[in-house]
Amino acid sequence: MHVGAETHVGRIRHLNEDDYHVAPKLLAVADGMGGHAAGEVASRLVISALADWPGWDEPASALRACLLHANDLIIRGAKADTTQAGMGTTATVARIDNGKLHYAHVGDSRLYLLRHSILKRLTHDHSVVAELQRSGQLTENEARTHPQRNLLTRALGVSGHIDIDLGEIDLALYDRLLLCTDGLNVVLTDQEIQHILTTPDPQKAAEQLVAAANARGGPDNITVIVADIGKEDLL
Ligand code: CA
Repeated sequence: MHVGAETHVGRIRHLNEDDYHVAPKLLAVADGMGGHAAGEVASRLVISALADWPGWDEPASALRACLLHANDLIIRGAKADTTQAGMGTTATVARIDNGKLHYAHVGDSRLYLLRHSILKRLTHDHSVVAELQRSGQLTENEARTHPQRNLLTRALGVSGHIDIDLGEIDLALYDRLLLCTDGLNVVLTDQEIQHILTTPDPQKAAEQLVAAANARGGPDNITVIVADIGKEDLL
């Protein structure tokens, strides 16, 4: 797998509360939220839980168990330190094994698949505006500028009972994966993202996506991972 990754604070915020992880078979982005820099703590907790997770023999159950564990850690952390009360994070995680992609997802970060130059979203946003869109009450463009676009319906750290979306697909040679936080897609359409992803080098593609989001004002932290599937990932 050839991977490029880039994270940037954006042009408005003072702190970067996003975090990400790139390991040989594991990719993840997390977008933290909460006052007093607590969002940074929440996103770091889920990323370290993933990095330290001991066993991946059964990827789907490992992903689920790890995110449930991270959810507990964040809730306990918030209880132990009142300055971190209310912290939470999104988590979008991809595990690549034997030609299969297993993914787990909570919140409004995204996982996309670019195959034969067509970009397809694999995750559903867990946000109020995404639900209004799904029920036909908002268009994509209205959702992008909606005053409540930051309100999540699901995030880690909010409740002990957390519903985690899981999915899996078979990968093919030359597939490209994109993981991103909403700082990217709040200012770029899927069509624009697809166009930038024609850049062959994954690191350059990641940098160009971040630059394009900043050129649109960079209203939020931006994190992207671009991963190209190689022959070794299909064995
Ligand atoms: Ca964000």
